[in-house]
Amino acid sequence: MHPTTYNAKAYSAASETSPLASTKIDRREPTERDVQIEILFCGICHSDLHSVRNEWSEFMPTVYPIVPGHEIVGRVTKVGSAVTKYKPGDVVAVGCMVDSDRTCPQCKAGFEQYCPNMILTFNSPDQHLGGRTYGGYSESIVVDEHFVLRVPSNLKPDAAAPLLCAGITTYSPMRHWGVGKGKKVGVVGLGGLGHMAVKFAHAFGAHVVVFTTSPNKKEDALRLGADEVVISRNAGEMQKHAGSFDFILDAVSADHDINAYINLLGRDGNLTLVGAPAEPLRVPAFSLIMRRRSLAGSAIGGITETQEMLDFCGEHNLTADVEVIPIQKVNEAYERLLKSDVKYRFSIDMASLKSE
Ligand code: NAP
Ligand code: ZN
Repeated sequence: MHPTTYNAKAYSAASETSPLASTKIDRREPTERDVQIEILFCGICHSDLHSVRNEWSEFMPTVYPIVPGHEIVGRVTKVGSAVTKYKPGDVVAVGCMVDSDRTCPQCKAGFEQYCPNMILTFNSPDQHLGGRTYGGYSESIVVDEHFVLRVPSNLKPDAAAPLLCAGITTYSPMRHWGVGKGKKVGVVGLGGLGHMAVKFAHAFGAHVVVFTTSPNKKEDALRLGADEVVISRNAGEMQKHAGSFDFILDAVSADHDINAYINLLGRDGNLTLVGAPAEPLRVPAFSLIMRRRSLAGSAIGGITETQEMLDFCGEHNLTADVEVIPIQKVNEAYERLLKSDVKYRFSIDMASLKSE
């Protein structure tokens, strides 16, 4: 039996070549454990763009129409009868996941993001209404309270929204690999994820080196917390750091030579990929064999860790550097993402949907 639904304004794409445009979608009325949220801000992640344009067709094909958006901050407007954690008026957040099976070993260990039955915020099967889940480029969303996060009151909602993906995706692997005092840490790509990685690595006390293809981002990188900045297209500058890193986080959205970075790792150094270019990577065996280096990947973070990250940001007054835009500028923002022209995250002011 389907729950009752209501209409919500949203922006969707009808095909991989269509721009995003105004539409109306169905949301379910909150069931027992659901929280209904009026969305205030939603960040624009490069994953939104990869998905809208079906660039990950091999791994997670896009079903159209798609409503992207998984960096959501909003205000609770209604809760189901069994909800205990939230009440109307609370400022809350939703990230990349809206459900999981809660019973598998991954869920039990707090790794909902690795649950085989995890439901993404958009472009996953919607188990309540059928069809696909619709994301945060919308005026409201309804989510089980387990997947709703609390936003510390000192954080501005527009700048806190990107923490829900760019924040947790960089925080989690750096915690896992022990980034901290005495460690030399590289961040590749100063975009939405990269700039959060720099802030966290600096806050954890590491020596931070940013690798960028954009010379005009050098001053910003230093301001954000980098100790050094390397223009990665300059082979001489790269060579100076050969074999010296404990950890490198690669947050690049496009095809690039990952081997150039593996060669910068020292003994037992690790390079973790969070960037997800569509093209497969080429890694020579000897790059890893020598110095016992490792190559890893990482996806977002679990719910408990996401709340821990938000609380850490509250304590350290840490948020994203955002350019707030109305939803009507979303297609232009996508074009700018492709040119690495964003400082350093677009955050959509959802009040702009009211005029649609
Ligand atoms: P973004 O804001 O567009 O930043 C990507 C950055 O990569 C750019 O600013 C640029 O930095 C660099 N770059 C772009 N094209 C490049 C090229 N051809 N060669 C070298 N560097 C290039 O993207 P984002 O939102 O941070 O996302 C980054 C990637 O992470 C995307 O692939 C996204 O899908 C993925 N992602 C993964 C997860 C996960 O859970 N693993 C979560 C969220 C996002 P410079 O100007 O400094 O060179
Ligand atoms: Zn994302």
